[in-house]
Amino acid sequence: MTLQVKGVLDVPDFSLFAIRRSDKETAKPLEQRFGIPHLISKYEELFKFTPESICLPITGAGGVPFDSTLGLRNIAPEDADSQDGGRYDLRQAIEQVFFAKKKLYLSLNPQLPFATNSSYYNLLDSSDDETPKCCFAKEETQDVLKQILDDAVKCVPDHQDISGIVLSLHELWPMGADGEKVEVTCFCQDCQNKIQDVSVRQFQFTLKFDLLKRTHRGPFHLALKDGGSGISHIKNLADEDGRQLGLEAFRRVLLQAGYYDDPGTFNEYSEQLYYFTKSRDVVVRGAIENVLASSNPRLKNVRRVLVPEVFPYSWNTGLYRASLMGLELDEIWAAPGAVEQFKGCTNVMRKTFLTARGRYHLHSFFDLIYHIIRALELDPDSAPQWRPRLMKYSRQLDESMHLNRMEILPLLKRDEDFVAPLVTSEYIRTLQDVLGVRGEDNSRSMMDLLRRLGGGIE
Ligand SMILES: [Zn+2]
Repeated sequence: MTLQVKGVLDVPDFSLFAIRRSDKETAKPLEQRFGIPHLISKYEELFKFTPESICLPITGAGGVPFDSTLGLRNIAPEDADSQDGGRYDLRQAIEQVFFAKKKLYLSLNPQLPFATNSSYYNLLDSSDDETPKCCFAKEETQDVLKQILDDAVKCVPDHQDISGIVLSLHELWPMGADGEKVEVTCFCQDCQNKIQDVSVRQFQFTLKFDLLKRTHRGPFHLALKDGGSGISHIKNLADEDGRQLGLEAFRRVLLQAGYYDDPGTFNEYSEQLYYFTKSRDVVVRGAIENVLASSNPRLKNVRRVLVPEVFPYSWNTGLYRASLMGLELDEIWAAPGAVEQFKGCTNVMRKTFLTARGRYHLHSFFDLIYHIIRALELDPDSAPQWRPRLMKYSRQLDESMHLNRMEILPLLKRDEDFVAPLVTSEYIRTLQDVLGVRGEDNSRSMMDLLRRLGGGIE
């Protein structure tokens, strides 16, 4: 078979570089047990060919892997190869990417869950509780993202090219339901102002935020409810191609779902919800365009890549799928089978991202890891209480991955490109060991792991 497919190796989190390949495999020199060469050899073992490109994360759940001009926490782990406690940071990883003759993509996650000390940036839910993640609608968040991108670009040698920047869109607007109670984000003042502005200007409709923020029997109850093991939401609030429905069709879908249909309020609530989703969509698109339209000269001709959710309307990102067609994009990376749904995006290269829901489960997993690290900093004895959640998230991640050669055979046959996020088994095993999920507790090795994962622990 002549191989046309080029393949991208996606590094979902920088803490992967904190783990060395087992010392038992001593036949391999150190440099192949650590860093980019380690991940490339893992990829080659899995797929039997070498990737053309490597996508490095410039934001993580715990910080950024370089010295940031914004003073953000540097999560670059200890360099296994260094004698004097140096760090393996973005600059070194990039050097290894080019040394291995691979192309370079840089990815960023706009949630910035580590940058949460300031209420100013935080998400605000409908109960007015803050969620410690940055609100993507705020221009200041977008400025910070652009600054992170500029800092990361400085880590790329002058004579080398960046192939693309990747914006990973998941869980921008977290939701929660508990019985009758439904909580939605974000209702910070910036979100309210921007969404109202779009609604009035583009749709001549005034939104009532006091109604929309109702956590009991409010407009969101028409489309969201407690599903037992998570929030249930109506997935077909758009037509087959992901285009927005008219108000009457939108209402029919809500009625059919039958989540909540108090005849006294249905007309008003459904209209509020309808214009809210339309306006939120416009605001999110504006944020994406702003972040991807960097003025940095070194990013002028790079490919603009989006890893979106694949629902016709995504509550998590506030986007209608068809809206993406209006954006200036070069590539879309979407879950197996879902890439076809973006065929309306002409001139956009579609690549299969080899996990269910793209980076959703990956982000959830690494968010939890850094959450546990922060909790253990405060109370090293609290490891046991984290085990059930770590087990659950590891399992969810494991089940969402499609990383083997069988999964890619159909893609190879059709010459379709794909992106493989690598989370090595060494990484999962080490985490399980140090958190005592597999064997007994070992607090020394736990602290050792935390030190290597970075996060400011010395
Ligand atoms: Zn907001």
